[in-house]
Amino acid sequence: MASIPTTAIEIAAAVRSGELSAREVLESHLDAIAAREPEINAFNLVLADEARAAATTIDERVAAGEDPGVLAGVPLALKDNLCTHGIPTTCSSRILEGWRPPYDATVVQRVAAAGAIAIGKTNLDEFAMGSSTENSAFGPTRNPRDISRVPGGSSGGSAAAVAAGFAPISLGSDTGGSIRQPAALCGVVGVKPTYGMVSRYGLVAFASSLDQIGPFSTTVADSALLLEAIAGHDPRDSTSIDSAAPSLLDVLDQGVAGLRIGLVTELMGEGIAPDVAARVRQAAEALAAAGAEIGEVSIPALSYGLSAYYLIAPAEASSNLARYDGVRYGMRVDAATTAEMNAKTRTAGFGEEVKRRIMLGTYALSAGYYDAYYGKALKVRTLIVRDFETAYKDFDLLLTPTSPTTAFRFGEKTSDPLSMYLNDICTIPTNLAGHPAMSVPFGAGSDGMPVGVQLMAPALCEPTMFRAAAVLEHAAPPLEEAFQ
Ligand code: GLN
Repeated sequence: MASIPTTAIEIAAAVRSGELSAREVLESHLDAIAAREPEINAFNLVLADEARAAATTIDERVAAGEDPGVLAGVPLALKDNLCTHGIPTTCSSRILEGWRPPYDATVVQRVAAAGAIAIGKTNLDEFAMGSSTENSAFGPTRNPRDISRVPGGSSGGSAAAVAAGFAPISLGSDTGGSIRQPAALCGVVGVKPTYGMVSRYGLVAFASSLDQIGPFSTTVADSALLLEAIAGHDPRDSTSIDSAAPSLLDVLDQGVAGLRIGLVTELMGEGIAPDVAARVRQAAEALAAAGAEIGEVSIPALSYGLSAYYLIAPAEASSNLARYDGVRYGMRVDAATTAEMNAKTRTAGFGEEVKRRIMLGTYALSAGYYDAYYGKALKVRTLIVRDFETAYKDFDLLLTPTSPTTAFRFGEKTSDPLSMYLNDICTIPTNLAGHPAMSVPFGAGSDGMPVGVQLMAPALCEPTMFRAAAVLEHAAPPLEEAFQ
């Protein structure tokens, strides 16, 4: 049997040309899952039978002279908050146990239409609330680079699945960093697209004004390929941008000569581990060596991003999660009255962090506190948008750490929610602004664990962002060399 390539681009090329069968590609990934999934726990569900049937169909189409698409035969893992028709979708919550969506999310349809093979549903922090997957009702996912450490979150399962070689690509969702932070901690590429670029139809809502679906991969080019496949207008999502998907693969080799790239002062100092900050400076030097102009830029309102996010996101969540009432979805705990049944179901079905967010959000939206909390947070959000606008007058892209530290150990931050929330300090601002951002692996920290650097761009400037990401990928120090 020919050896199986590791990237989606190579796999799709080999399957389309008939050089490899989708079935043999799939079996080799199922073997990798069988070998390491027991210790990693990346998946809530492995779809072996469904994937085998889909792979056989792809192979039949190739044999019949058809082209199954740009992702032909590529195994792909789906975060378990993406609706899959007839297949359990749990959001890693007890409250959705037994629920099978009656439809596919738009992204699930699009990847299937492009020939990808859905290989499983990945673990996450319950309802995507968290930064470590420790909030999953089904147990945490472990970081494939060191199983004593978290993979990040909330899309920890999707990041770990790619890092462990269970699938070359996966999809996650990013509300405040949930694609980029786990990508950084697991040493893979992760992209949060511009708000509205990818349809949210069929993504179980956490905070609707912030949620966005995006790719994970081992290479920048694979994320470009996957984002091209899932982006573009969808009439079923009213916030979907009415334009075609961007061309990303075509621009990857255009380099960064003449681009102005800013290091953000507020995200390079206090709270950022020195080895992580040093890697970001090295990344800036690499971009400069490739012809970019590097400067420093202060974005003062970013200091308030975390506080604004932890009011806006819980406020929206408290409203979105009201639908889990014991009637419409999944679990029900019976009781004498409807109100009691609602309360008992929600008490038994939601985990601690989800309850904390619902209470915070309900409080922030309550009549006496709305102006003081939710209203203020919205004003801060506007200030952040304005400050970004000012920064982007002088810079094409911004460069920051993705996460303040490398992957931490299990239990290190679970007793103090605030220390967990601080993980999101670098990633949250782009969600509040609706802008795109991505994490690119850039060597290891002093503990030998991967460091991710974050590129941020103005709305719809993904092509520029991907050009810089490709330069960083080429310049990245090998992961095997710990930071000195
Ligand atoms: N860690 C952040 C939170 O807990 C972000 C989560 C996300 O992006 N889904 O809310």
